[in-house]
Amino acid sequence: MSAVRASIRRRDLLIPIAQVKLSRDTEDLVLQVLRSGRLSQGPMVEAFEDAFRSVASVEHAIAVNSGTSALEAALMSLGLVPGDEVITSAFTFSATLNAILGTGASVRFADIGDDFCVNVASLSRLLSERTRAIVPVHLYGCPTDLFALQAVLSGSKIAIVEDAAQAPGAKVAGRSVGSFGVGCFSFYATKNLSTGEGGMVTTDDSRLAEQVRIIRNQGMRSRYDYVMPGKNFRMSEVAAALGVAQLPDLTTNNDRRRANAAQLTSALQDIPGVLLPLEPPDRHHVYHQYTVRITSTAPRLRDDLLSFLRHRGIWADVYYPRVVFDYPCYREHPLVTRDDVPVAATIAGEVLSLPVHPGVSEQDISLIARVFREGLGL
Ligand SMILES: *Cc1c(COP(=O)(O)O)cnc(C)c1O
Repeated sequence: MSAVRASIRRRDLLIPIAQVKLSRDTEDLVLQVLRSGRLSQGPMVEAFEDAFRSVASVEHAIAVNSGTSALEAALMSLGLVPGDEVITSAFTFSATLNAILGTGASVRFADIGDDFCVNVASLSRLLSERTRAIVPVHLYGCPTDLFALQAVLSGSKIAIVEDAAQAPGAKVAGRSVGSFGVGCFSFYATKNLSTGEGGMVTTDDSRLAEQVRIIRNQGMRSRYDYVMPGKNFRMSEVAAALGVAQLPDLTTNNDRRRANAAQLTSALQDIPGVLLPLEPPDRHHVYHQYTVRITSTAPRLRDDLLSFLRHRGIWADVYYPRVVFDYPCYREHPLVTRDDVPVAATIAGEVLSLPVHPGVSEQDISLIARVFREGLGL
């Protein structure tokens, strides 16, 4: 116990890359659940689903036990069969890929752009009669150019399943992510909204919503009425209470992230070889991560700068060090095609994320900027 406490105290000296802070109200609501005697999917889960619909501006929100489950349930609800292809971003967390592989579909990878999201022109070259779904990833909280994506898919029956795990509250031209097709959110401990583990599927399509509800609960339409081999993707009442209590603060917290990002951007302007994150016109970024690129013309190597920052107590990190399929378990996977993704491969060697979560103060940002410049010899 004392070792645990000591390590917590040491971490207090750092500016962490993510931080969970729960209010008294949150504790009270969790306690209420603990005392209710009902711990699995029940009224609190329903309350969370009902409240979450407004985040994605949709009719239906179905809570599940993780973001990965949300993606897998959403993709399963499309009825994919072996031979079908799903196209996603080459630059994402493994969960996106694992969820697609879980359905038995084959995977292709589109390259990315300066916004770290799928490049729609690169993606359009992979479309074929086998393509059943696209999984755009709103990486770091920056929404994909979804109207451009819809435009290249228009007239086809190809579904959009948004990986919005990092982007609750992000918008494109005023329209919420999670409402362009089927939306998949994560409430993992470090995400913008956290229930420890948890996820949500959002859609306006009542038929798909019904399928996802069936998949979540062992393939049952009602008790012991099995209509397909399903999963146990149910959310616990404790997780739902964490979500219900924190949901009202999502916009304020996202705005704090945006203000921190703006302050960092103005403090880090004009450093040679360093590219700062973009917020393209009409896209409302929620800065799950503030990610800079330390390019080959920067005064110091990315990994050296990373160690320097950490030694100075600033917990910067690299998301993600390689393109998602560049590991033996995926490279040799029969359902994976190793598409050529030069931009993603370059960017993976350049990215460095700096803390901007709501627990980071204005003074912290000034310190981060000062130490960052110092680390580059400026
Ligand atoms: C976190 C994350 C997921 C998976 O969510 P879990 O809740 O951890 O299962 C999927 N995609 C992306 C981009 C993520 O960041």
